[in-house]
Amino acid sequence: MRSRVIIEPFRIKAVEPIRLTTREERLRLIEAADFNLFALKSDDVLIDLLTDSGTSAMSAAQQAALLSGDESYAGSPSFFRFEAAVRELMPFRHILPTHQGRAAEAILFSLLGGAGRVVPSNNHFDTTRGNIEATGAEAHDLVIAEGMDPENLHPFKGNMDLAKLDAFLTRHGAAVPCVMLTVTNNAGGGQPVSLANIRAVAALARRHGRPFIIDGCRFAENAYFIKMREPGQGDRPVTAIVRDMFAEADGMTMSAKKDAFANIGGWLALNDDALAQAARSRLILTEGFPTYGGLAGRDLDAIAQGLREIVDENYLRYRLRTSAYIGERLTALGVPIVKPTGGHAVFVDARRMLPHIAPLEYPGQALAVALYVEGGIRSCEIGTVMFGMKADGTETAAPMDLVRLAIPRRVYTQSHADYVLEVFEDLVAVKSRLRGYRIAWQPPAMRHFTAKFRPLEG
Ligand SMILES: *Cc1c(COP(=O)(O)O)cnc(C)c1O
Repeated sequence: MRSRVIIEPFRIKAVEPIRLTTREERLRLIEAADFNLFALKSDDVLIDLLTDSGTSAMSAAQQAALLSGDESYAGSPSFFRFEAAVRELMPFRHILPTHQGRAAEAILFSLLGGAGRVVPSNNHFDTTRGNIEATGAEAHDLVIAEGMDPENLHPFKGNMDLAKLDAFLTRHGAAVPCVMLTVTNNAGGGQPVSLANIRAVAALARRHGRPFIIDGCRFAENAYFIKMREPGQGDRPVTAIVRDMFAEADGMTMSAKKDAFANIGGWLALNDDALAQAARSRLILTEGFPTYGGLAGRDLDAIAQGLREIVDENYLRYRLRTSAYIGERLTALGVPIVKPTGGHAVFVDARRMLPHIAPLEYPGQALAVALYVEGGIRSCEIGTVMFGMKADGTETAAPMDLVRLAIPRRVYTQSHADYVLEVFEDLVAVKSRLRGYRIAWQPPAMRHFTAKFRPLEG
């Protein structure tokens, strides 16, 4: 059977022009931005692959839902539509809306964190880690070894290492306030977690008497990977797989800026009545009344509609095919990537692509700047710039120097993807001429957002 193109399963009703720029303009703009892509104006970017967070295109039905949003302070019907849409997929007793995923994390760990506590996960996302550590607790990553090897083709590289988790729970006992699991595993490249692994993590947490919380930001992509890759799941509807994933958990945190097609929003869901009551009290202090929690009624309606759309299997097939397509073509061009491609992004291994640039001369930054200059593409360095500075001010190479191409949902078409690939093709031809960077100025922490770079002379 001939394999067929998987088309974008939507038509385009509203368009947003992209401002075309020349290479000369972009050289000037990136220099003015001190070679930091975060300092660019987004109008000066052709294809923005900085993040998939909050960058989704809303559907006509979501735009319509915005208008039916009810802005009552308490008891708005928008809240009840939101709550019903969440509960349809994730059957938790208590659902608290928040303005973003990190607000849900902050509330959860203000209750569960604290000095002496330790929280395991496959890989904590950076805001999760930040919110745990801000309370004095420690965040530990226990992903399987395969998940750390960019060449390993394991189908579920986001899985938790169950033996390590068991030993961790035995060693730390009551110091573990909850077990977390990120689906898909964002920090590990959008790699999925199998349903068998989710169930085994839940069983271990239960056996040790610890609550189990899922960070569900990309739950729908994860469920479709389960359908595609896990034995016995291929004939099941994605919605049934999603319900199975969350049926095992005691709660979840969520960023609606990911798999809810919303531009803002999130939630914290819990089964435990006393914990939910305490969380509601925090919510009122920091976010808002429990029936809006930091969001407008119209946002709650956009999320409710987005949740119905995100589990559409034609969408999910197209979504995962997009990253796989970009990954396959990059591999054919000889560009090293993290394999297999995950859900929401393709990670290019800049250290292997540019072996003549030493890690402390930032090969990821060099590639990211070159993608902008040559093609107006904005990507994100995930390497020594982001992770290389230690708390004591010294610098070491990060384990890998990656460049992330994150793919906004329903925003770009295949010809945009082909354009990105053509820019890579051009760069491959001149890659030995690319030079590294030095940092001319940096803040004491989170330097990647604001550091100023200077190109090294050839
Ligand atoms: C984005 C993200 C968060 C945080 O969500 P925000 O809405 O950006 O605050 C938490 N966990 C994961 C896995 C994420 O991708």
